Amino acid sequence: MYILVINCGSSSIKADVIDSVAQSTIVSFSAERIPASPVLQLNKNNIAYNGEPTIDAILTVGLQAIKDALEDKYINGIGHRVVHGGSEYSQPVLIDDKVEQTIHDLIALAPLHNPINLIGIQKAKEIFAGVPNVAVFDTAFHQTLPNRAKHYAIDKNIAAKYNIKRYGFHGTSHKYIVEKVGKFLKQDVKNLKIISCHLGSGASICAIEYGRSVEISMGLTPMEGLMMGTRSGDIDPGIITFLQENEHWTAKQVEDFLNKKSGLAGLSGLSNDMRDLIQKAEEGNEDARIAIQVFTHRITKYIGAYAAVMNGVDVLVFTAGIGENSAEIRNRICTGMDFLGIKLDEHKNESVKLSKDADVINISDENARVKVLAIKTDEQLAIALETQKIIEEKNKVNCVPKIPIAISARHVHLSRETVDILFGKDYELTEFKPLSQPGQFAANETVILVGKKNKIEKVRILGPIRPKDQVEISKTDEFFLGIDAPVRESGKTEGSPGITLIGKDGATVTIAEGVIVAWRHIHMHPDDAAIFGVKDKDIVSVDIDDEERPLTFKNVLIRVSDKYKLEMHIDTDEGNAAELKSGEEGELVLCATNVSLHERMV
Ligand code: ADP
Repeated sequence: MYILVINCGSSSIKADVIDSVAQSTIVSFSAERIPASPVLQLNKNNIAYNGEPTIDAILTVGLQAIKDALEDKYINGIGHRVVHGGSEYSQPVLIDDKVEQTIHDLIALAPLHNPINLIGIQKAKEIFAGVPNVAVFDTAFHQTLPNRAKHYAIDKNIAAKYNIKRYGFHGTSHKYIVEKVGKFLKQDVKNLKIISCHLGSGASICAIEYGRSVEISMGLTPMEGLMMGTRSGDIDPGIITFLQENEHWTAKQVEDFLNKKSGLAGLSGLSNDMRDLIQKAEEGNEDARIAIQVFTHRITKYIGAYAAVMNGVDVLVFTAGIGENSAEIRNRICTGMDFLGIKLDEHKNESVKLSKDADVINISDENARVKVLAIKTDEQLAIALETQKIIEEKNKVNCVPKIPIAISARHVHLSRETVDILFGKDYELTEFKPLSQPGQFAANETVILVGKKNKIEKVRILGPIRPKDQVEISKTDEFFLGIDAPVRESGKTEGSPGITLIGKDGATVTIAEGVIVAWRHIHMHPDDAAIFGVKDKDIVSVDIDDEERPLTFKNVLIRVSDKYKLEMHIDTDEGNAAELKSGEEGELVLCATNVSLHERMV
């Protein structure tokens, strides 16, 4: 499939035709130094240009040149890098009038980027009429950030008025990296905690827990977080008002200062290019040394924070210009992190040479607990692959069965050891009702959950006995009990909080971990999975087919087993939100409403 990828920035354009199956570039166009002195290249050869030095005019010339170079080759789709997708998009989308309008509406949040992305879309429609266009958003991968990572601690009314929250960027690259990690380690990324350091001119660091972005250093704009080529990254916001008062700067001047005159360039006063700074530091330049030290110190600081946020880290990745090419920077960042299980093999680190054929290299010490990988990112290819998926999806017509939905009230699964303490040695749970999943039952026995703040009585035990204790509650229960439980798939209780349980005659046990809010999920048999075209641990969107109140549940986990029967499980909070009838304690009550699979998200 031939995909044209258009990536327009304020001063540069990249447009490549990529064979997304062979993963090779067929035609490439680039333009840099716009508007000062534009340099245009087609397949790395300069093109003479005397026209207007605007993105609009240069893109017209570039796309026409690509069209001519393609001769009779046909483009299947066009993928656009769109910087800001706001809260609307957690996936790439086929561009129609509504999508264009949304990108337009988001200009307030990305005034430097979204207008230029719209020009790209407009020009592509004119020059390649009839070819479908897809928007691939920098923000999309981070839609899974939990609320605690999304909010700024500012007045909520002002935040809501302007949609001020943490969106995160570089999502296409971080997502691509996650897929590369899974393939390289031959592991399902849904079992891994990954920290991805994208260190280019723009730099960001992302915490990816079990395949989902849970923290990202960039926020409302790409200015937050790490120190970058010309951006400051995190600063005390007091500096802004200080400068406005003392330098009498306007908002635009402050933004220019923090975006274009800070970072490596500003702090060193020498260059925004890491290669220059390393060279100068080796020659003894103190300003270059300080800039490098601040740059690496901050990355170390974020890695520590993100490891804490995820309660551990399995894989640390370095990517983009600096991350891929500088052994020195990788070494500085990782030094002194053996307490976390991060230790480099110096020889491997020094000899990294990434290429298309060797695009992932393991540089960790063979005894280190954390795998440290250098990975070649390729944003253009990542956009082409995302676009290909959407085009294939568009061309596919799927007739699928409806999925029954069930509401799962709070309940507990207990281990043999815990049942022994709560009900007596070798006590067998007695069946109250069978559950719809074969072999499962709601027991007559119940427990009391004792949280820091409150108790919840008569919480149903579900049988049969399991290897591990697991307490599944809703978000509302979480607050009532005073427990901060993570959203997890069943069985993944590692690092979750504990709780006290009271059983028969006041017998009490405190479990060290096991309290989770169940990740909404769909059980299905492999035959159903084949019909839906999904596999175990996929994450999908689900539409609730209700004429009066249609609703989409995002982030729904697929669980496939030949023991499962097709059914979606949500908890009582989610059932209430969807105005569905709530289940009884410990039961999965089927509602009349059906749901259908909407889209695949990961
Ligand atoms: P972007 O795509 O965000 O413009 P890149 O990913 O190309 O940026 O990264 C650019 C940065 O990578 C520059 O700071 C450049 O100096 C740095 N870089 C490239 N090669 C090396 C190297 N061998 N050693 C150190 N830094 C490098």
